[in-house]
Amino acid sequence: MIPFLDLKRENATCLTELQDAMCRVSESGWYLHGEEKALFEEQFATFCGVKYAIGVANGLDALRLILLAYKEIGRLHDGDEVILPANTFIATALAVSACNLTPVFADCDIKTYNIDPISVQNKLTARTRAIIAVHLYGQTADMNALKSISENNKLILIEDAAQAHGATYHQKKAGSLADAAAFSFYPSKNLGALADAGAVTTDNDELDEVIRSLCNYGSSKKYEYQHKGINSRMSELQAAVLNVKLKQLDANNLKRNQLAQNYSQHIHNNHIIKPSISNKGEHVFHLYVIRCQNRDSLQAYLTKSGIQTQIHYPIPIHKQEAYKEYSKLSLPVSEQLQNEILSLPLYPTLKEVEINYIIESLNNWQI
Ligand SMILES: *Cc1c(COP(=O)(O)O)cnc(C)c1O
Repeated sequence: MIPFLDLKRENATCLTELQDAMCRVSESGWYLHGEEKALFEEQFATFCGVKYAIGVANGLDALRLILLAYKEIGRLHDGDEVILPANTFIATALAVSACNLTPVFADCDIKTYNIDPISVQNKLTARTRAIIAVHLYGQTADMNALKSISENNKLILIEDAAQAHGATYHQKKAGSLADAAAFSFYPSKNLGALADAGAVTTDNDELDEVIRSLCNYGSSKKYEYQHKGINSRMSELQAAVLNVKLKQLDANNLKRNQLAQNYSQHIHNNHIIKPSISNKGEHVFHLYVIRCQNRDSLQAYLTKSGIQTQIHYPIPIHKQEAYKEYSKLSLPVSEQLQNEILSLPLYPTLKEVEINYIIESLNNWQI
């Protein structure tokens, strides 16, 4: 059986370093707001090419904190509309809803699977105040187009970079392409901790200050509260883990790219459409997502052949029970993709024999 993802295998490549780091923290007597987090924030900001990185508890909180901070600053108000893609992980929408803002779902591009700027343009209203661009599957969204829509309409532009650590757009890193960005370090992400963790990146001094306070109960001085904040901390243990794993990120992204190239060069089956890669930057292949009109039978065949696959995501957000008020909304490309997409195994430790077997199985598949 070839697993869709094998985190035990992934983390084994730096197990001793991880164990040393975790021992160091557990022996230190200091578990929150310490040196490991400060070091990670500094190194991750440098990695992304921004002034600030703020460590928080998870990716959903990172998104929520950006939106909350803009409310505190007075740039967003209850009920304001925020445009985001329908084809994304639910957290992107939940962050908007949790802040009492109104999600407005845009359709995506059939080739890149990313948010379609034309659809964004069509969704603008007098109440639109922000756009969240998701760099889905590890490929940056069409940021120049989204930036010009934002600038023309005085909107806030936010990146959901939870799947795109290290991805670039015209030589600039994800995390540095908009007003602020949210990252997740959930264990399966390209940069993954050993539990939940997240970060916000930004160049904006005021946003940095407000988010640092908001994630600490709204306080920047002990027992004095400027904002009605939340508790969203990155632990020293996870920061120490991330300090070890950040050193491997570039090499791991390179391996992901080589594996993806292997798939793209050697999968030859008329029923399978391979992902298209834009020439605007480096894709970091959080996921390698193919399309197939007979997706369900292809998936069943692969399962029988011992190859685990997944679907990211089987139901677009506007068709989810949680968002039933949007169920009549029509977003044809997202709805088509939901029936055709299939994610193949892709992680740095995937072995050559495994990938060759997956390719051979795909090439031998007949409807
Ligand atoms: C993983 C993910 C998130 C949420 O991150 P958590 O750390 O799980 O809260 C948000 N958006 C996208 C696109 C993601 O893939």
